[in-house]
Amino acid sequence: MTAHAEGDRPGDASHVYDNVTCPFCGLLCDDLQITRTGSTLKVSNGCPRATAGFQRPLPPAKPLVREKEATFEEAVRTAAELIRGAKLPLYGGMASDVAGARAVLSIADRTCGVVDHALSEGQYRNFRVVQTSGWIMSTLTETRNRADLILIVGTDVHKLHGRFFDRIVTPAQSMFEGVANKRTVIFIGEGLDTSAATGPRIDEVITLPVGKDRIPEVLAAISGLVRGHAIPSPEAPAAAPAKRSGILSSLLPGRTSAATAAPEVAGVPYSAIEAVAEKCKKAKYGVVVWAPPALSMPQADLTVHMMTEIVRELNLTTRFAGLSLGGNEGAPSAASTCTWQTGYPLRVSFANGTPEYDSYRYNVSRMLTDGEGDMLLWVASIGTDIGLPQTSVPTIVLGTPGVRMAQPPTVYIPVGTPGIDHTGQMVRCDNVVSLPMQNLGRSQLPSAANVLAAIQAAL
Ligand code: SF4
Repeated sequence: MTAHAEGDRPGDASHVYDNVTCPFCGLLCDDLQITRTGSTLKVSNGCPRATAGFQRPLPPAKPLVREKEATFEEAVRTAAELIRGAKLPLYGGMASDVAGARAVLSIADRTCGVVDHALSEGQYRNFRVVQTSGWIMSTLTETRNRADLILIVGTDVHKLHGRFFDRIVTPAQSMFEGVANKRTVIFIGEGLDTSAATGPRIDEVITLPVGKDRIPEVLAAISGLVRGHAIPSPEAPAAAPAKRSGILSSLLPGRTSAATAAPEVAGVPYSAIEAVAEKCKKAKYGVVVWAPPALSMPQADLTVHMMTEIVRELNLTTRFAGLSLGGNEGAPSAASTCTWQTGYPLRVSFANGTPEYDSYRYNVSRMLTDGEGDMLLWVASIGTDIGLPQTSVPTIVLGTPGVRMAQPPTVYIPVGTPGIDHTGQMVRCDNVVSLPMQNLGRSQLPSAANVLAAIQAAL
C-alpha cells in the first residue's frame, strides 16, 4: 500500500515545497517552505514546534503483532480479529486528518464502539459553554485584519503556538486598510511570554499578572465593570451607583462595601483592572484569546463562560469576539467530523446501533480507568507525545513511528502523518476552514484512513 498521491515525487533526491500546511498545532500555518532531501525535511520558516515535528528523524518501523514483526496483511487480520471479538471496542487517540476521523467513525459505527479524541478534555472546556449558552467568536483572519485590542487570558500563546504573534498579531499588512491599525495587547496571567508582542503594529502591551487559579476573579471584576458596576476603592469611596445590581459583590469575596474594600483583586490593583475594562469598552473590534488546554484551573469551563459573557456584554455597545486556540493533534478535525456525521462533538457511543452522546460516560480515558470497554484502537499519526495510554485491554495502535506507548500494543501498524507522508485535509482551530495537506514524499507509510479501511474490510 502506498501513501503517495498522483503528482507527488517521493523518489526525488531533493525538492522544495512552498505553502506547506503545518499539522503540528491547531493554527495550521499554511505558508511554510520545506525542503526534502531523500527522506529528510528542512523547514525554512517554522516555529520550534514545527521544526521539531518536520525535522524529527523517522525511525524505521514495521507492523508488529504481539511484539513480533508481521506483514501488513497479518497485522490487519489480527486487528480485525481483536475488534470482532470485543463486546465494547473503544476508539481513541484520533490524532489524524478528516479522512482518518471519518474512518474511525465508520469502523466504530460498524462495530458498535465508542469514539473520543485524546485531547478532548481541553476541548470540552469550550463545548460545555457552546452547548449551554452559545458564544460570539472571531476567526484567525478576522482577528489578524480587524482587531484593535487583543486580550489573552491564562495562555502562554507564544510558547504553545509559536507563530500566532507573527501571523495574526504583528503582521505589517492588513487586508482592509492602507495603513494597518495599531493594536493593544493585554495579557491576563502570570509568567506569560510577552516578548513577541512587539513591532510597528503594537501600540501598547499591558500585563495583569495573576495566578491561574485566580484569573476568574479578575475576569469577574472586568465582567462587572463592562456591565456598568463600579468597583469601590479606598481612593474613591463614593462609588457611582451601579447601572445594574447584582453579581459583582458575590464574585469578589470580602468586598461588600466601599469601607471594607481592598485596593486590589487577586493581587491586581483595581486601577489596572478598571483601565483594562475601559479599553475593552472603547475598542472597535476586541478579541479575547485563550487555549482551552492552558486553562487547567478548576471549573475551567466556567472561566470560558465568563469570557464569553464579557464578549456578549461588550457587543451591546461595540464589536467584540472570542478566539479559541489549542486544537493540536487533529482535535478540531475529529470534533468537526464527528459533529457533521453524528450531531455530537466526540464522546459518542454506537453501542446501541445509533449515535448516543454523553460527555461523561463516553470519555474514553475515564472508561479505560474504570475498566469499561474490552479493546482499544488508538490512532496517533501526528505527534509522538499522545501515545497509547496504560491499559490492560488488548490494543491496536496506528501510530507514527516513534510514538510513545505505555506498554507494547497487541498490534502496531505504522502510519504516515497527514501533510508529510500523505495528502489530506485538516480543520483549523477556529473551525471555519479545512486546509489541504500536501504529501512531501518523506515515506511510503499509509494513511491511518487507509489502514482503518483495510481493517474494516477484513472484519
Ligand atoms: S504555530 Fe503551529 S501550525 Fe504554525 S508553524 Fe508552529 S506548530 Fe506549525
